Amino acid sequence: MKPLTCLPKILIVDDRPANLVAMKKMLSAVEAELICAGSGNDALALTLQHKFALCLLDVMMPDMNGFETADLMRQNDATMSMPIIFVTAMDQSEQHIFQGYASGAVDYLYKPVIKEILLAKVRVFLELECRQRELHDANEFIAEQNRQLEIKASKDGLTGLDNHAHFQKRCKREFNLAVRHHSDLTVLLCDVDYFKNVNDTYGHQVGDVVLRDFSGLLTDLIRDTDLLARYGGEEFILALPATDLAGGCIVAEKIRSMAEKNIYRHGSISLQATVSIGVATRNTSHAHPHDLIEQADSALYQAKASGRNRVVSYQAYQDGTKVEQRDGGFEDIRAPLKAALEKNKAAALASFEALAHTRLKDFAGLKERNNKALKLVNLIGKRLNLPQEMMLSYRRSFKLHDLFRVYLTDSALDNDQPLSQGEQQAIFNQPLLMKELTDLFDFFAHERQILLYHHEHYDGNGYPEGLEGEEVPFGSRLFALVDTIIAMSLPTYPRVPVTGEKLIAEIREQAGKQFDPFLVDLVVGILEEDL
Ligand code: GH3
Ligand code: MG
Ligand code: MG
Repeated sequence: MKPLTCLPKILIVDDRPANLVAMKKMLSAVEAELICAGSGNDALALTLQHKFALCLLDVMMPDMNGFETADLMRQNDATMSMPIIFVTAMDQSEQHIFQGYASGAVDYLYKPVIKEILLAKVRVFLELECRQRELHDANEFIAEQNRQLEIKASKDGLTGLDNHAHFQKRCKREFNLAVRHHSDLTVLLCDVDYFKNVNDTYGHQVGDVVLRDFSGLLTDLIRDTDLLARYGGEEFILALPATDLAGGCIVAEKIRSMAEKNIYRHGSISLQATVSIGVATRNTSHAHPHDLIEQADSALYQAKASGRNRVVSYQAYQDGTKVEQRDGGFEDIRAPLKAALEKNKAAALASFEALAHTRLKDFAGLKERNNKALKLVNLIGKRLNLPQEMMLSYRRSFKLHDLFRVYLTDSALDNDQPLSQGEQQAIFNQPLLMKELTDLFDFFAHERQILLYHHEHYDGNGYPEGLEGEEVPFGSRLFALVDTIIAMSLPTYPRVPVTGEKLIAEIREQAGKQFDPFLVDLVVGILEEDL
């Protein structure tokens, strides 16, 4: 229970200062703050500033007498239950006494006031006030406990996120709102891949760290209006109001890629963990949020079945390519493209190796060192539960490094002589040179960047990152403008072509909004020459 933080206050009202002094003196023995008023009006003003445990009110006062003052106090919410003891002359009639009770008196004191009687009565009311305060504090305490219990009952103990039951409640409300307003609602179900391995390899405590840290990452990534909960074990669920399938897939991809990059640490242990995500968006066939969650769940199942560390939307796989085309989804060509790329990378490495073979006396020695390094990398990867794709890339880095070194450090490192300044500089430059050489083989790096940002707008209202102005790479700005002009002038059926002055007007209208104004001027100049 909270201790009393301040003394109870007693208001003493009397028009004669000598009476006030006498009362104060008699009451000096009680533990209370004594506040005096010389008139009914002063007393009312003081009740606005203080909460009084008791009022000792003189009846006979000029201007406003005690009864009138008490009547006004009774009409005010803040003072209506304040106990009032009227202080009055002994020789008053019964009529007078009754009027006092009608005005809300709880007791009477007769003048001249006798100290013992005054103290006894005042103490009764202070005791009452003390009990009331205790009761009030106890009620507050219970209300706070109930609030805490309610929060506890709705939260997951490990991550602090909403729990399954609370999510269901909130999701139902969002679902009903979306139905009423005909608005979008997209659900993401996200499950950590091979999480059992994490527990088995490092123990549950480390597993818990992963779940806790990952939930923190999710919390940072979403909007205030999105719902996020721990759905069960290593499953998390998100409901994104006013978000369509495409938007939901962008968020899901952000989560997937963020998870893949994150390193979880606990003491000397560090590990990575990927996630698979199923996405489903509301449509009119859904009668209940369960229907929507069920579809996200079956998309998640697909994501797991097709290799994990990926996002799959229910709509994208459910009805085959026909629906995908209509919904603006895409056939997943990532797997065949990746396979083609892998082949190219392997071929490039093989040709470097052949080249190195012809250059290097001790090629067998190089191979041996390289194999040893790869073996160790494999073991580390296994311990850290690293995804296959990452392992492949780490192994390749070692191969590239060892092969490039054949060309870079022939003379400098292979003898025991102190390094000359030129040799030191060459070693310092090594990482930069390796990057430059590797860049040669990242043959679509530039195009990749242009394509990544070609839906960004000059005014910052595009996506996926909302870049603005010069932040959008020049190539992407140029791409966006030309792409739009082509789409407008040579549209696919049944859209009608927009050409000539109409086309120019529409492009101009977007200068500084969707498009770079400088490029718009330039391109409009070119188009006008053709008119
Ligand atoms: P998949 O890629 O198919 O999702 O494989 P998985 O290993 O992640 O899935 P599985 O369902 O086989 O295992 C989930 C594991 O998550 C098993 C369970 O012990 C563990 N788990 C569930 N809740 C917690 C928790 O609160 N803390 C920890 N450390 N582990 C948990
Ligand atoms: Mg899992
Ligand atoms: Mg699971």
